[in-house]
Amino acid sequence: MSATSSSAGISRNPKDYRIATIGSHTALQILKGARDEGVPNLVICRKGSERPYISYGVADEILFVDDWSQWDSVIEPELIKRNAINIPHGSFISYMGPEKVKTMKSMYYGTKEILEWESDRTMEREWLLDAKLLLPRVFEKPEDIDSPVIVKFHGAGGGFGYFVVRTPEQFYEVKNRKYPDENDYTIQEYIVGVPLYIHYFYSPITKELEIMSFDKRYESNADSIGRIKAEDQLAAKIHTSYTVVGNVPVVVRESMLPELFEMGERVVKASQKLPGIGKGLFGPFCLETIVTRKLQIYVFEISARIVAGTNPFIEGSPYTALKYKEPMSTGRRLARDIKQAIESGRLHDILG
Ligand code: AMP
Repeated sequence: MSATSSSAGISRNPKDYRIATIGSHTALQILKGARDEGVPNLVICRKGSERPYISYGVADEILFVDDWSQWDSVIEPELIKRNAINIPHGSFISYMGPEKVKTMKSMYYGTKEILEWESDRTMEREWLLDAKLLLPRVFEKPEDIDSPVIVKFHGAGGGFGYFVVRTPEQFYEVKNRKYPDENDYTIQEYIVGVPLYIHYFYSPITKELEIMSFDKRYESNADSIGRIKAEDQLAAKIHTSYTVVGNVPVVVRESMLPELFEMGERVVKASQKLPGIGKGLFGPFCLETIVTRKLQIYVFEISARIVAGTNPFIEGSPYTALKYKEPMSTGRRLARDIKQAIESGRLHDILG
């Protein structure tokens, strides 16, 4: 549904709309951001997951669902009735699935076509190379492995099951022993450095690219394995895993900022030239990088939406404190984009 066919017509009053999302991931931040900008909000919860939204008092309304398969029959008619604008986040996409998102009839913030480009590793790589970013090498087949690599299984939830090896023999030894039936994987050059997740926001209303904040993930057991000496790790056969447990705020060397801005800008520009992409990338997005000791920035992934690493900054980050007079989270920045689009009659510019 578009705003023009809604019960509120083409209202320019933000109070005639609702910012809606699914209760998980970054929903607390999104709901609070909507409220801070004076736009009513709504959260969709599977029964049993509503407690945080009640306890923290950030939701104007909670819609309950037994199962996500009820989206079409139960949820969507209610969303349409309320003129709700859906905000996608990581859990939103994984519960709905990209196909469902594409055919969704209620309003959706963002470019739906981008989902295909970021979920297909080959297409994602093409886009990021077009943006002139530095990417880890990809090895076509295990026989090509000639340096340390990280092996990633597709659909591996939160990095579980990834392993690091440095020869074809080691690859087959681990793969055949632990994952004999898994054949959908990527072999990527292992970059030695520190992880840095860059949180951008590009507004189609102001046409400005902002850096909102940075984080690194807190991963089990990668972030604790160094507490055991190497020979004990080997003796106990402890392997590294990357299950995300939380996020830790980071500020970067100030001298890196110009390059980081340019990287984000190139990603947005390159997205606008992708075939069949409509409006290109806008709203919040994140480049997931490893920074080496020589300060080379390798991008291993892009998330074309709000990421959970923005959650430490509900009261704003050091960077948004420089730019805004009020605490500006990514969730609030999103709500402001929506509000400005509604008030200026440009809602169509932010809907996918
Ligand atoms: P992902 O599931 O792709 O977000 O990656 C999970 C974890 O693996 C993160 O902690 C990354 O820091 C790490 N990682 C992913 N790709 C690479 C790479 N090419 N080199 C080094 N570490 C990586």
